[in-house]
Amino acid sequence: MTDPTSPKRGIDLLRDPRLNKGTAFTIEQRRELGIEGLLPDVVSSHDTQLHRAELHLASLATDMERYVYFSDLQERNEDLFYRVLMHDPVKYMPIVYTPTVGAACQQYGRWYRRPKGLWVSRNHRGRIAEVLRNWHVKDVRFVVVTDGERILGLGDQGAQGMGIPIGKLALYTACAGVPPQMALPITLDVGTNNRELLDDPFYIGVRKERLTGEEYDSFLEEFVTAVQEVFPEATIQWEDFANQNAVPLLERYRNRVCSFNDDIQGTAAVGVAGILAALRLKDEQLADQRMLFFGAGSAGIGIADLLTLVMVQDGLTLDEARRRCWLFDSKGLVQSSRTGLGDQKGRYAHDHVEVTDLAEAVRQIKATVIIGTSTIPRSFTRDVVDAMMANTPRPLIFPFSNPTSKAECTAEEAYQWTNGAAIFASGSPFDPVTVNGKRMYASQGNNVLIFPAMGLAVLAARPTHLPDEAFAVSARALAAMATKEDFAIGLIYPPLRTIRETQMHIAATVATWLWDTGLAREERPADIASYVRNLAWRPNV
Ligand code: NAD
Repeated sequence: MTDPTSPKRGIDLLRDPRLNKGTAFTIEQRRELGIEGLLPDVVSSHDTQLHRAELHLASLATDMERYVYFSDLQERNEDLFYRVLMHDPVKYMPIVYTPTVGAACQQYGRWYRRPKGLWVSRNHRGRIAEVLRNWHVKDVRFVVVTDGERILGLGDQGAQGMGIPIGKLALYTACAGVPPQMALPITLDVGTNNRELLDDPFYIGVRKERLTGEEYDSFLEEFVTAVQEVFPEATIQWEDFANQNAVPLLERYRNRVCSFNDDIQGTAAVGVAGILAALRLKDEQLADQRMLFFGAGSAGIGIADLLTLVMVQDGLTLDEARRRCWLFDSKGLVQSSRTGLGDQKGRYAHDHVEVTDLAEAVRQIKATVIIGTSTIPRSFTRDVVDAMMANTPRPLIFPFSNPTSKAECTAEEAYQWTNGAAIFASGSPFDPVTVNGKRMYASQGNNVLIFPAMGLAVLAARPTHLPDEAFAVSARALAAMATKEDFAIGLIYPPLRTIRETQMHIAATVATWLWDTGLAREERPADIASYVRNLAWRPNV
């Protein structure tokens, strides 16, 4: 809809992606807004615009080209961008976000056109609030921020990590209606240790090695303080920070400002939801499982921690719950004779002999669930999967590493090697597989099943902070959503084509919990589900 109070008219209006509707402007609007003649005569329907964009996308040769087309469209006509994305999220989310966004970040300096967010650089130290004020919107409610150090499974992409907060916020909007005008993508350009980028003539960031230690911490402190000063209502979502910073940042700020880390807490909720849903399918109890985490970084430990919380909520002691979770890192099984593990890994270091072979670890601890967050491709070998099958008739095999090239195994491998018995979920999408004449689908444990809903819940309830229990609530809500029909074809999550409905339900459930627990600052509405639904932005159709 055109905003009659907007001062923009004429060519300025057409150049504003938030106001531009392209050829969909009616004849009356064109007259009223001073854009007659600036557009060709035709008045396109929304359907024609959508169809044209889809035809164009289909004509392109690669997903990277499609990514760039989407990026241009977002800079040209935001409404149409979201209409296309929401029209077929299954097809377009992997282009706008993972896995294509990984390649987009790697090549950012080669295709970058116009800014869609803020780069807050180490050169802005002492003036960060001033830089934040350069953003054209004052009422920012939601910030997604990365320092580009651990972009998906691709490592340090420095300032080129910007693709991640931009893509992620597009999904917040498309999937849960977080209003795009309230969202701000930020990349903290603290430098990069990626030699290739430092040597790349097209690299767009500060050509210095990363800030570390006290310098890094004080930069982050100034950033958070500046966000609170300039955008006092903003929630901060930490994104793709390296593990050594992600955990301390979350701990330092989680009670000071409403903030969360999707890589840790969102992943945890999706992982836990997958396990709970699969156990519904198997009709088994969580307390009877033995979970092995291959890769003990932010994602793996995040899932283990939330699982522990859920088991404690269900009646186990903390110690009993932790004993059901085992970690396996680059040095082998995490066990109590190992030194220098630190607190995070240390709490899962149980008494056990040294084991350095993954399949052997599966055998010895009798794992029934294996989750890969290692970024080591094809590490769930046939031997590993056979060992899982020897422990349980229907093992849970979750290769969560992204992008597709880093997955610990493929859907084809997991299903073929287990004759269709595996309950499979991966981080990146895989095509369906036919096993014994039956078509089995690959569940995608994509964080998009959780984080957009958290964004909407936070906007609705305006909590003081967002504790881990809120993520347990979201995990249980998601786990309850897969239907018998989904289970029959291998799916443990509701399908992505219904993502908007899934997110509305989870957002309302979490928001209700935030009101019930007294964390919400917003006044409680009579009907939370309708309130949340009405808050959700959608393109004008
Ligand atoms: P991270 O860097 O914090 O952790 C990676 C861990 O893998 C590190 O602890 C590292 O020591 C370990 N590792 C490296 N080599 C290993 C080896 N040879 N054997 C065992 N472990 C090894 O990163 P993260 O945030 O935990 O993410 C890890 C992966 O999980 C990434 O690919 C990421 O894209 C993926 N991920 C997926 C989802 C999802 O699917 N929903 C969510 C978050 C992260």
